[in-house]
Amino acid sequence: MDKNNLTKEYSNDEIVVVWQSGKCMHSGNCVHHLPAVFHPKESPWIQIGQANSDEIKEAVAKCPSGALAPLIFFFPNAQRVKLVFKPALVFVHQRFN
Ligand code: SF4
Repeated sequence: MDKNNLTKEYSNDEIVVVWQSGKCMHSGNCVHHLPAVFHPKESPWIQIGQANSDEIKEAVAKCPSGALAPLIFFFPNAQRVKLVFKPALVFVHQRFN
């Protein structure tokens, strides 16, 4: 396992936050903006249940490097499709219930 090239997902019922270690520049913006959720010295370091989805999306949007990205569920009562928006890429994932 390469700690410098990890991709981790943290989810609640509405949102998945994807974190890519290789892009993190340790600016601390996420911790400063939402300290209840982002705990860099703990595991898991993102405790997504400690804030609502809007607060989390707002904090993720302040990540200057793109290490954090939100995946948002659409069609919540059917097969759920998640989209992640990144500067140059769009990933589509499908979850089967
Ligand atoms: S805001 Fe982004 S770049 Fe800064 S510490 Fe958090 S994840 Fe890393």
